[in-house]
Amino acid sequence: MKAFPGLKGKDLRKDLRADVAVIGGGPAGLAAAVAAKRAGAERVVVIERDVRLGGILPQCIHTGFGLKWFGEELTGPEYAARFVDEAASVGVEFMLETMVLEVTQERRVAAVSPRHGLIVLQCGAIILAMGCRERPRGALVLPGTRPAGIFTAGTAQRLVNIEGVLPGRQAVILGSGDVGLIMARRLTLEGVKVQAVVEIMTYPGGLARNVQQCLRDFDIPLYLGHTISRIHGRDRLEGVSVAPVDDARMPIASEEWFIPCDTLLFSVGLIPENELSAACGIEIDPATGGPVVTDEMETSVPGIFACGNVVHVHDLVDHVTEDGMVAGAAAAARARVEARTPVLGEVGKDAGLESLQVLCTTGEIRPGRNVRYVVPQRFVRHGDAPAAAAAAARTLTISLRPSEPAENVVLEVSIAGRVLRRQRKQKVRPGEMIQVNVDRLAIPSEKGDTLTVSIVER
Ligand SMILES: Cc1cc2nc3c(=O)[nH]c(=O)nc-3n(C[C@H](O)[C@H](O)[C@H](O)COP(=O)(O)OP(=O)(O)OC[C@H]3O[C@@H](n4cnc5c(N)ncnc54)[C@H](O)[C@@H]3O)c2cc1C
Repeated sequence: MKAFPGLKGKDLRKDLRADVAVIGGGPAGLAAAVAAKRAGAERVVVIERDVRLGGILPQCIHTGFGLKWFGEELTGPEYAARFVDEAASVGVEFMLETMVLEVTQERRVAAVSPRHGLIVLQCGAIILAMGCRERPRGALVLPGTRPAGIFTAGTAQRLVNIEGVLPGRQAVILGSGDVGLIMARRLTLEGVKVQAVVEIMTYPGGLARNVQQCLRDFDIPLYLGHTISRIHGRDRLEGVSVAPVDDARMPIASEEWFIPCDTLLFSVGLIPENELSAACGIEIDPATGGPVVTDEMETSVPGIFACGNVVHVHDLVDHVTEDGMVAGAAAAARARVEARTPVLGEVGKDAGLESLQVLCTTGEIRPGRNVRYVVPQRFVRHGDAPAAAAAAARTLTISLRPSEPAENVVLEVSIAGRVLRRQRKQKVRPGEMIQVNVDRLAIPSEKGDTLTVSIVER
């Protein structure tokens, strides 16, 4: 085992154990912890590096959270608070200001905190819920100077909503992801003049509702098929040059114009936070940047599960919560198997989940025409497992994003050329995640084990 090589023989707190350890106390981790507890896991520990729980939600003070899960519109902090309260009430333990440094295939977690120093936890199951981070400005090659006044949209959101500091007076936003759109509205409400949102693609990166509610309702111009071609200013940003792009997405210099501004925000994408996962040897899907998972949210390493933005970037927190619930319940079941505790009254008396696993095989789900990625990438086939167990997981929900926008299309799920599910869609856009349900019992075993999801013309 390669883990903790430098720590061998040192006096660690080796007695630390958890049935389920959850890394990350955002909405995914909190939902997973609640579900693990509800599913019978005894000791569930959430490890969070920040001083507070809730992940990104405490800085998202706008409404728009929880429409699906709670049937009401909440702010980010309100949504987080409901899960923090519930997790506390079911007996989840929290370790705040604790940074996980390593996860091993033997289900050990190494973390550090100012209070406890170095900690090693042996776990029955681990849930990765580390969220994602913003693509930094350095990922882009932009000519010009490097003055003050340039932020990622999330940093600016934290400055305004948590620290109470305005980043500037006149802003331009590069990229039309949801964080940038929401910040365009937020800055406007705080009296900042948002000059423009500039998007290199010919379609917006964020949700249609955010384009309407955050830009159109405030008359903020959105330049699609444009980019920033130069940054101006020495000590402080003085403005940016903006130009349309050609087919190769290169700026057309002859059509460039200048927009004065003292603030530039980057909203150019989010990257799932998977250094821990990759170092543990977990298979990563290059299309999502997150672990390959089954529909039970189990990664390629048995006993290690993942949920939320660490798996793929979600538009809506409600879907993050749904993933977390699935991961939590499955992790609790796995932890019981690891603890060799017989689970009476479930899958075969005294047999525990191992008997179910023997009867299960895994199929694959692949992106087909005009589909950038699918999650999960694998699904569990319950084969001859008892009917109750099979029925419990009868619906297979597949999330996907299209590669290109399209109208009047049909979403098809097929196996070896036979279409299992067709769903009409008036519009599909890469900025909006789609979900499709398949009846698992309708998947014919004689047709192989690979489902393909495609978006085709009607
Ligand atoms: C600006 C913005 C606006 C949004 N607006 C909406 C909206 O209006 N409606 C909606 O439904 N959704 C919205 N979303 C989406 C939603 O907030 C996210 O999808 C959701 O927060 C993701 O949850 P998560 O738990 O996966 O990740 P996060 O919320 O990012 O939580 C991950 C947690 O893991 C912790 N962590 C990471 N690494 C470690 C480590 N090594 N050790 C310990 N802890 C670690 C982090 O500190 C963090 O607390 C918005 C998102 C953003 C960024």
